[in-house]
Amino acid sequence: MLKIDNLHVKLEEEDKQILKGLSLEIPAGQVHAIMGPNGSGKSTLSYVLSGRDGYEVTEGSATLDGESLLDMEPEERAAAGLFLAFQYPVEIPGVGNMTFLRTAVNAQRKARGEEELSSGDFLKVVRAKAAELQISPEMLKRPVNVGFSGGEKKRNEILQMAMLEPRMCIMDETDSGLDVDAMRLVSDGVNALRSPDRSFLVITHYQRLLNHIQPDVVHIMANGRIVKTGGPELALQVEEEGYGDLLAEAR
Ligand code: ADP
Ligand code: MG
Ligand code: MG
Repeated sequence: MLKIDNLHVKLEEEDKQILKGLSLEIPAGQVHAIMGPNGSGKSTLSYVLSGRDGYEVTEGSATLDGESLLDMEPEERAAAGLFLAFQYPVEIPGVGNMTFLRTAVNAQRKARGEEELSSGDFLKVVRAKAAELQISPEMLKRPVNVGFSGGEKKRNEILQMAMLEPRMCIMDETDSGLDVDAMRLVSDGVNALRSPDRSFLVITHYQRLLNHIQPDVVHIMANGRIVKTGGPELALQVEEEGYGDLLAEAR
């Protein structure tokens, strides 16, 4: 499904190389985790895959189902099935959460050649999915993320994901700022979305999220590259020993 090969990325504005030959392959149906120290380039990877401005790919490739993501506009990537849950969800004053979701869902359906949802059908679906994430009807009416707590913003990201039904879901430190109960809600939401034709890239600094969303594969990222790949036991090793030994070993 997602194949990243020898990806090199620098900042457009500065002569600073952030990704330095990153390779990664996520087959359909699998959950991969990326763990790594702060500043290793995890968010940059998620931004470059989803098409944020400000980065220059100097070498390498990234494809989704064989099609080059890097040549697509952000909305084309979304239409192709890519979704990014932000580490820092953005507030959008003046745009109602419900309107935002409905516009996004219908744009997605249109791009896939499907009919738009009627407002009745949309309401039914969004209310049910919001309730599962304990997002109140009142929060659905407020402007996107405005005045939401950290945990509410992260739950709202998962609601967007649940509504858009992407094939490749990237979650950038969705666990940061979540208390135990919110983490449970988010993980239950993600686990409910797991399916043989959907894949996840779960970026996290800590192991605890991976107790709830059990990954098939764990990658350790440092200094712009994947330095070690293993099973769930790798996350436990990080939890116990920190990154020090793993990174020394990789060097
Ligand atoms: P992580 O998500 O793993 O913490 P990031 O991808 O956020 O890492 O950042 C990787 C490195 O690139 C860091 O050293 C960070 O300071 C730097 N960086 C990322 N984006 C920018 C930017 N727009 N301007 C300057 N430095 C940046
Ligand atoms: Mg960080
Ligand atoms: Mg980050």
